[in-house]
Amino acid sequence: MPRLTQADLSNLNHNFEERTPQELIQWAHATFGDRVCTISAMQEAGNAVCHMISQLKLPIPVLFVDTGVMFQETLQTRDRLIEEYGLNVITLTPEQTMEEQTRKLGVLYLSPEGQAECCRLRKVEPLHAVASQYDGIISSLRRSDGGQRANNPILSIDKKMNTVRVNPLANFSDEQLHQYIEENQVITNPLHKQGFATIGCNRCTTPVMDGEPKRAGRWRHLGPWSVYCGINPSDSQDPMHEYIEVTQDLRDRILGIETDFMI
Ligand code: SF4
Repeated sequence: MPRLTQADLSNLNHNFEERTPQELIQWAHATFGDRVCTISAMQEAGNAVCHMISQLKLPIPVLFVDTGVMFQETLQTRDRLIEEYGLNVITLTPEQTMEEQTRKLGVLYLSPEGQAECCRLRKVEPLHAVASQYDGIISSLRRSDGGQRANNPILSIDKKMNTVRVNPLANFSDEQLHQYIEENQVITNPLHKQGFATIGCNRCTTPVMDGEPKRAGRWRHLGPWSVYCGINPSDSQDPMHEYIEVTQDLRDRILGIETDFMI
């Protein structure tokens, strides 16, 4: 099977820096067809992407991983996207309830190693279970998130899901994101207005104080060792050394070899 590496994507990534998020979403749909989805944790950047998809009237499903310990506000935000934007939100769930997991393994999220395992079981595995359905996943990582994401490319290789991750908001600043949300009255998770810079499970997420890094509210009880859950591969892998296996046809479509599709 032909391979696609991060280096193969470098020209596209260079050219895509000038494209708008909407153009990148259209490219993803034209390239991957019904084998593209977006993934959202119901935070503001993901909701902006969902709003763009609804405005473009593209039939791109939204994957939402419900760990079973989400904030009520997050679930309500998901329901509003379905009702008000008409989006096809697919809720993915872990194999075990939190109660079953705790009975078998104890309260995992109180240690860094346990947190990694809990996130693997409750977030990463449910997503990986649907990997074979998709060639492209639209995410909402932004370089202005800082940390590991400061150099995130627009297109990156997701080795574990054997897909291409598309980040249409990669070069969107905080100001651009908030301007888009305000101008378009985008549905947002009400927890943002309560001081939550980012939002995950209710067991492991707190608001942040002024001056703290955005992700300081994630796994605060574990100190600075736990910052990411592993659901976004570029948070932990170096994509430059990775490749995925794709059909020749898909490889040509991604690299624009046999198509005159222009955005
Ligand atoms: S964020 Fe916390 S509760 Fe949620 S899956 Fe990760 S460790 Fe478990």
